[in-house]
Amino acid sequence: MSVTQRAVRLMHHDASERPFIVIWEVTRACQLVCTHCRADAIRTRNPLELTTAEGRRLLDDLASFGSPRPLVVLIGGDPFERPDLPELVAHGTRIGLSMALSPSVTDRLTSPVLVELHDAGAKAVSLSLDGATAGTHDSFRGVEGVFDATLEAARTVRDVGLRLQINTTVTRGNVRELPRLLKAVLTLGADLWSVFFLVPTGRGKLLEALTASEEEEVLHWLHEVSTLVAIKTTEAPHYRRIAIQRAGVQALDDVFPVGPLRAQLRRDTAHLLTGLEPSRRPRPPIDVNSGRGFAFVDHVGAVYPSGFLPISVGSLRHQAFPEIYRGSGLLQQLRNPDALGGRCGRCEFRTVCGGSRSHAYATTGDPLAEDPSCVYQSGLDQDVSLAGETQAS
Ligand code: SF4
Repeated sequence: MSVTQRAVRLMHHDASERPFIVIWEVTRACQLVCTHCRADAIRTRNPLELTTAEGRRLLDDLASFGSPRPLVVLIGGDPFERPDLPELVAHGTRIGLSMALSPSVTDRLTSPVLVELHDAGAKAVSLSLDGATAGTHDSFRGVEGVFDATLEAARTVRDVGLRLQINTTVTRGNVRELPRLLKAVLTLGADLWSVFFLVPTGRGKLLEALTASEEEEVLHWLHEVSTLVAIKTTEAPHYRRIAIQRAGVQALDDVFPVGPLRAQLRRDTAHLLTGLEPSRRPRPPIDVNSGRGFAFVDHVGAVYPSGFLPISVGSLRHQAFPEIYRGSGLLQQLRNPDALGGRCGRCEFRTVCGGSRSHAYATTGDPLAEDPSCVYQSGLDQDVSLAGETQAS
């Protein structure tokens, strides 16, 4: 087995034929007003949302890919704003799909509703926790009291028997809270920590993203603590590059010198985590990217390479999902590492990373341009490019 195969979970099927995961934004309605909302969520449901029948047809189309069927995550807005949610979950489960949910923490998120969804077949629930204190989290979410309600909801999710995922969006405003957030993730017994790197789109334009160097430091720190909990990054596929570079390296701090931000994250982690047990057997990051094993369907049926890359590649009201996924010119380009521009196009990690296409688009207007949120320079960083391959072989 190569270092890449050990450091990254590669897809077992052809990503140009079928997705690994599909995110469906079932509604944009939501009672929260989060400062970084990708969806620019609104208070009431759009009458043009996909209907129950159209939603069932989408799920049928996803099941038609055959085994292994795509994972399906129903998000919003707040998916709990849709009264037909249990019906959609039950239908997806009946036809062999693995269904997960990403609700907002509001009065609609109650134990009886979670029990109903669990009975309908839902496997997992992800909740957002963007701050380690009520002050930070509630100001992110725009509603007082959401922090305490989220901790309570997380415990209820686990009590009901659903798998728990915690989602955290990292900005310059909360990056130093990451060790305390990790402690919360472990204390809550989450199965997966999904760390989002802010893309300046939707209301996220109002927040300050990390610089590429800061992001590199955070990704190294995340890899260090990934022995404690399974970690997934969103819009930072170069986490996989880092996982490969670090694999098998003995003197990591010599090869990847620790900067001030990572040093502080490490100190705080050591101080906070003494005695805490790992929550679950860690797993390497999965090799998917926008349009390559991953697709997003919005509330009115438009299909996108990602929820953070606002270029529609087709509408479910005109074409079936498999036709769009396989036939879209943009998705085909995104799946071709040799179509990438700039540093990503020259990078030896482009097949397993490929860069955040959303960051590239948000910054340059070209979804195939180099990812400005990654510091890596192929050639210049030759000494650390494939250090893992050399030391582990
Ligand atoms: S340069 Fe691009 S392809 Fe290479 S590691 Fe960075 S983001 Fe990934």
